[in-house]
Amino acid sequence: MIPYGRQSINQEDVDAVVRVLQSDYLTQGPTVPLFEDSVIAHCGARHALAVNSATSALHIACLALGLGPGDWLWTTPITFVASANCALYCGAQVSFVDIDPLTYNLCPDALEQKLLRAKIENRLPKIVVPVHLCGQPCDMQRIHALAQKFGFKIIEDASHAIGGKYLGEPIGNCRFSDITVFSFHPVKIITTAEGGMVVTNSSELFESMGLLRSHGITRDVRQMSHAPDGPWYYQQVALGFNYRMTDLQAALGVSQMHRLEGFVAQRHAIANRYEQLLSELPVTRPWQHPDGYSGLHLYVIRLQTERLMSSQREIFEVLRDKGVGVNLHYIPVHTQPYYARMGFLSEDYPQAMRYYAQAISLPMYPGLTQAMQEQVVDALSGVLQ
Ligand SMILES: *Cc1c(COP(=O)(O)O)cnc(C)c1O
Repeated sequence: MIPYGRQSINQEDVDAVVRVLQSDYLTQGPTVPLFEDSVIAHCGARHALAVNSATSALHIACLALGLGPGDWLWTTPITFVASANCALYCGAQVSFVDIDPLTYNLCPDALEQKLLRAKIENRLPKIVVPVHLCGQPCDMQRIHALAQKFGFKIIEDASHAIGGKYLGEPIGNCRFSDITVFSFHPVKIITTAEGGMVVTNSSELFESMGLLRSHGITRDVRQMSHAPDGPWYYQQVALGFNYRMTDLQAALGVSQMHRLEGFVAQRHAIANRYEQLLSELPVTRPWQHPDGYSGLHLYVIRLQTERLMSSQREIFEVLRDKGVGVNLHYIPVHTQPYYARMGFLSEDYPQAMRYYAQAISLPMYPGLTQAMQEQVVDALSGVLQ
């Protein structure tokens, strides 16, 4: 089976991990800060904290921004459940904003309309989480302007988007947000097996997320209530978690960061080939907004269902039978049983529902060869006849 995504590991990656394995520290050694520095150097934010997943990153980002019971977090329904679950972990409530029909990202017009209504009802969100779906950046300038007007905070879920750019600058510089989150799961752009990172320009948020990452414990005298009792001393000053990344994972991360630009360039080359190979088929190819340079984590096409005899489900089944590991990103979060019982109405998210009825993620990862791509498109054109 050709998977929809997979990691790209070379001998340097293996050697980097083995070196840590043979060193003094498997975790909490010098490699995690090195990885954080390499991400900062790439994206240009002031601070970074590596954690054990993007899910953990979203959780501590929400807590640091003060999200709690009685508060609202808004995100897009077309995302992985983690973008919404982070609010529930904090005891807050979630709502969704419909997507833009061209980019499939959270729609700024829909956001503005919903904000105007929420203001009247006194239910404005504390946090909005735009998700750079497939790696394509959201309209951050407009979302940021709305944040200024309506007083919410922004966490960019850039799980798909490291290595991409917005208005010519790296995603993750936090120019239009408070915090940006990355994921390093093996299907994403770079990997540490499990892993994630928060980046921010705020030293206050950085300090507070640093405590939350590791039990709320500090060894920094400035954060203590009184002078240390002795050289062994630390203080727990908040209720945190064990969300730390290991040095083994960070070594893989540092090594993968060396190839980040190449990975994204390869993804663009694959997308360009798909553009040509798919041009005659009854599918809508992904539209790229000129303000962005996508990380191209995913390559999502939409079936022009009104022109087709077979259903989306039949097309999926045939492709999988033919060894093409297509997938669907994502099932609208508000339709998941855990969320449905909160009373969401699909008619409030017509663009997301339409997208869900048509979307297919084709295989997209640096190791995908031209021959494999041709196999994917042959299988697809066979089933679309
Ligand atoms: C993968 C992903 C996450 C979660 O990442 P983990 O590192 O697996 O916790 C969150 N949001 C989006 C949009 C993702 O794709």
